[in-house]
Amino acid sequence: MSTILVTGGGGFLGSHLCDVLLEANCDDTVICMDNFFTGCKSNISHLIDNPRFELIRHDITDPFNVEANQIYNLACPASPAHYQRSPINTIQTNVLGMTNALNVAAKTGARILQASTSEVYGDPEVHPQPEGYFGNVNPIGVRACYDEGKRCAETLCYDYKRDMDCDIRVARIFNTYGTRMQPDDGRAVSNFIVQALCGNNITVYGDGSQTRSFCYVSDLIDGLVKLMNSEYSDTPVNLGNPEEFTILQLAELIIELVDPSLSVTFEALPGDDPTQRRPDITLADSILSWKPTVRLTDGIVKTIDYFRKII
Ligand code: NAD
Ligand code: UDP
Repeated sequence: MSTILVTGGGGFLGSHLCDVLLEANCDDTVICMDNFFTGCKSNISHLIDNPRFELIRHDITDPFNVEANQIYNLACPASPAHYQRSPINTIQTNVLGMTNALNVAAKTGARILQASTSEVYGDPEVHPQPEGYFGNVNPIGVRACYDEGKRCAETLCYDYKRDMDCDIRVARIFNTYGTRMQPDDGRAVSNFIVQALCGNNITVYGDGSQTRSFCYVSDLIDGLVKLMNSEYSDTPVNLGNPEEFTILQLAELIIELVDPSLSVTFEALPGDDPTQRRPDITLADSILSWKPTVRLTDGIVKTIDYFRKII
């Protein structure tokens, strides 16, 4: 019988994680902590009557106390549009929030998993990106509140491991998409699908030659739970789908699936937008036997079906 805290549990990934944890073990209690900055109560409304689910409205930049066996720290806006809207709050969520979560872990002995990101690699000069690559991040650019915040959060995890014997896990998550993304989230997958379903042209930033590797949410959550329950904590672990696509290819796929009469409108590329990104998942494969199974087209079809119902 375990108690599992999920910070950011009202968000896109966090709500799927709460579902999976509640289904996996009928003795476990799941506590969702969220300030609903980008999350949404409708993501977890189906869990509210579950006696093994608890919701705490709290901003993790303020200290908290929770007795838990495991902590998944997912609280942080993930979409560039959202984190750039509130950069100081974003870096504080990463640094103060991580410190508060690690203090709870140090005090209670809970194992804690940090949801880090491929953004720690910045605009990578090594491709694909292995965990040993230190990255290429602009420390004062518009993405720095997120990238440097997540880098500092990783540093805190390893300092708490060395100094306080904290039982930490760090997942570096690459672009993940799927049901429960908010229609106004601002990320490429949700923007493109919502635009297409509304009969609008697709806004591609730059010339669309920048690449990303998109992982479907069910695969990612499976990797997170496996990492939490593994004994590996020596380094962060990349979790993502190694199939790489240009953003223009993503736009064309969504146009083909929703309405082939639509076209692409090219807009200015935002500052410090990474030119390429693809995970090397050799480590996750060897220590977790984890590999994504959902192909891009299948995941995009599921996500289109979801948005068709909610918009
Ligand atoms: P999301 O924005 O849907 O979820 C983040 C959740 O954290 C939201 O519910 C939000 O309200 C909550 N939150 C934000 N600041 C908070 C604070 N100060 N206190 C309490 N709650 C707060 O984003 P997501 O895609 O579900 O991402 C979840 C986590 O995974 C984030 O930490 C993100 O950095 C990380 N991640 C996600 C991706 C991805 O592609 N989805 C990639 C890399 C890393
Ligand atoms: N992007 C785009 N149009 C949009 C939203 C995003 O062309 O409407 C681009 C964005 O510039 C980036 C890529 O798609 O190159 C992925 O953006 P997203 O915000 O999904 O994730 P991130 O940049 O954090 O990888």
